[in-house]
Amino acid sequence: MILEIKKYPDSILRRKSEKVRVFDEKLRRLCAEMFETLKINKGLGLAAPQIGKSLSFFIVEFNDKRLIFINPEIIKKEGEEIFEEGCLSFPGLFLKIKRPKRIEVKYQDLDGQERKIKADGILARVIQHELDHLDGILFIDRLSWLKKISLIKKLKKMRA
Ligand code: ZN
Repeated sequence: MILEIKKYPDSILRRKSEKVRVFDEKLRRLCAEMFETLKINKGLGLAAPQIGKSLSFFIVEFNDKRLIFINPEIIKKEGEEIFEEGCLSFPGLFLKIKRPKRIEVKYQDLDGQERKIKADGILARVIQHELDHLDGILFIDRLSWLKKISLIKKLKKMRA
């Protein structure tokens, strides 16, 4: 089933998500549906709040590999890099965002097993973007204050 993606300024995108405590078939099915939804929308990552679930997990499809990050946490950050990002909750909007270049993330898999991953490049970028969604943070929040103000004005005009 293809899920509906919540678009800015839907208030669920601003909510801090709850920890996943139950690792069951329902969660597995939801992840499978999110991968379907991600593919059809040609995205790299999708976080649970974007499909209306305020739960702490996201999925990434990268180099034909499907990754699921449940209750993730960044435990190491290194360097800095500016890179263009898009977001399925902001169709057609691409922004150059500065973020750490290399990260190490602790998370749980679908069985609730603790895992760690080191990432750089595009993968590090996608993970950081999706992890922000779990805290109610959007990529427009990562712009400088002035850029953000003018962008929010533009977005309001586009919707008017
Ligand atoms: Zn996004």
